[in-house]
Amino acid sequence: MLLALGLELATTGYSQPPGHAPALRQWKSAAGTVVEAELISQNDETVELLIKGQNMARNIPIAQLSEADQKYLAIRWFDAQDLRQFELVKDHLRTVAERPQTVSRLLIEIHNEVKESPYAGLWAAVTLSCGSNEHSRAAVVLEDTLRRIEKQQAADPSRHRMTFCSANNNLAVCLIKGRKGDSAATRMVRAIESVERMPPIVQSNAELLHELTTNTDSFITFSPSTRQRLMRTVALSDNAGSGTKMEAGWHYSLDFDVPSKSDAKIKIDGVDAPRPDLQLLATGTGFVAAPGIVLTARPVVETTNYHGPKLITVIVDPASSSRRSELVRDLLISSTRSVAVSSSVGSGFGSGSVVWTHYSYVRPKNGQMGAEIAALRVPNLKLAPVEVALDDPAKQAPIQILGFSRGQSALQRGLQTQTGEVLQSRSVRGSFSALGASGSGVTLETSARVMGGNRGGPVLDAENHVVGIAYDTPVSGSDAKGLFFGSGEFRRWFYENVQTASLTDPEPSHTAAQRLSTVENSSVAVYCWGLKQKSTSQLFSEIADNSRDAGGLYLRDNWCVACDGRGFLDCPVRTCNKGVVAGRETVVKGVNPLTGRPIRAQQVTQERCTTCNGKGGRICPHCKNGKI
Ligand SMILES: [Zn+2]
Ligand SMILES: [Zn+2]
Repeated sequence: MLLALGLELATTGYSQPPGHAPALRQWKSAAGTVVEAELISQNDETVELLIKGQNMARNIPIAQLSEADQKYLAIRWFDAQDLRQFELVKDHLRTVAERPQTVSRLLIEIHNEVKESPYAGLWAAVTLSCGSNEHSRAAVVLEDTLRRIEKQQAADPSRHRMTFCSANNNLAVCLIKGRKGDSAATRMVRAIESVERMPPIVQSNAELLHELTTNTDSFITFSPSTRQRLMRTVALSDNAGSGTKMEAGWHYSLDFDVPSKSDAKIKIDGVDAPRPDLQLLATGTGFVAAPGIVLTARPVVETTNYHGPKLITVIVDPASSSRRSELVRDLLISSTRSVAVSSSVGSGFGSGSVVWTHYSYVRPKNGQMGAEIAALRVPNLKLAPVEVALDDPAKQAPIQILGFSRGQSALQRGLQTQTGEVLQSRSVRGSFSALGASGSGVTLETSARVMGGNRGGPVLDAENHVVGIAYDTPVSGSDAKGLFFGSGEFRRWFYENVQTASLTDPEPSHTAAQRLSTVENSSVAVYCWGLKQKSTSQLFSEIADNSRDAGGLYLRDNWCVACDGRGFLDCPVRTCNKGVVAGRETVVKGVNPLTGRPIRAQQVTQERCTTCNGKGGRICPHCKNGKI
């Protein structure tokens, strides 16, 4: 049934209702000036605002805004970073049980890549300490994770309270494994005080620490005052887990605050998902280069955070109320990566097979060059192709880039123009080259900006010939320049890879106005859709089924603290080295013939240690091979 629906969409297209008014908000500068503007994008330093009545968005340093606006943007930024890191982390957690070492390495990479969010650090530390007993390294990661949460809580104290509790509890466990009972107790107190009700995991860990250190021969340092403070905090706190019986041992908490999706998700007014199981992953611009073929930029259709099947749609006549979506059947992309994305998925989603966009990867011949251009086959697209210039534009030639902006009302605003000039051309290698095979690609730099939404947009010269395709921006910030491939370059890519169609050469009898009209009609918005992600409970069921209890997610540590997971306790005799005790003794070497006194000398001796019987220690009596 879904297959039939997909085919129907492909042949008739479907119209979208016109959108609502742009999402305007009042913004105040530090100096007190107030404007109404739509937020287009932001990073940690600048915000891109489209002020009401203007048609060009502006980059404004966040530091120039009022304190309230700065806080608003900080929270929004943290939301986006949390969501981004969470999406990156989720897939790896599924396989954490099978390959903990690989997963912990990947989680550390994500922790370093997305620097504001605590999820990867929380889980990486558990994987390190629980999986491979690297508790010292885990403690360092957790301290960094806690600093991140404190930074987020400075903007909003309600953020990550559960994550904060878990990270403190887990740091306490790592410190105990390093035999630092006092520091561990301080972390436990902080964990208990950060949430309203004490989680049973923290209570269990606190009581175990108390119990183990009561023995006089405890190997964990623990001062009486710290013990008193910890036990008083436990006694005074609201007990959430009364009646919950925990297995003996140290427990890591995996509980966390789910990222807020309110403001961070991409949502474009007036465009609904083609199917309810899909969500928008990326947007960009494309233009009709040949009958039924649209060119766009690779990052629009090859998302980094998502590797499932994708559905690409192009939005025709986006600014008008008669806008409609067309499905992209096939997609040609030149890349070293060849993620096989099936054109149909048999089961699991609906009753029948579901239509996806089929990705054909052209492998670069030398095995390492990628491309920044993708060709989309849209059989139902009845739009006239643009006229493509035969050569690249000259240096300093004025150019303009057409494309859609981002933000909720991106489509209603219609095509936006970024003007500039050609700054320089340079030979590039690697993934910047459109000519994947030859490796002699030339990219052009322009003062016109490429800002996410206009990636894949056509670059026009003064006579409105298409002289290039915009694909990326080399640096962020207000002085950003754009990168594009000149028409000579993408002509070569096109003829090398798309053998079924031809580009349209410039027609001298056409006027510049006629050409602009063709380009505007042939420019489409490109939308990349992917499957909605699994829910958190589904996700964790696979790794935590065995230890799920009372709503909390936790893992038990199996490593022996007494021997630090080695299964062997060293001999307590300090001079004993692998069962051998070195000593010195004085021996008589002979007699002095003049004095008749004996000649004595010091001599190093090596004797078998009597304490360990020459074994250097003993098998740890508390564990089996380092594990409890
Ligand atoms: Zn042991
Ligand atoms: Zn010994």
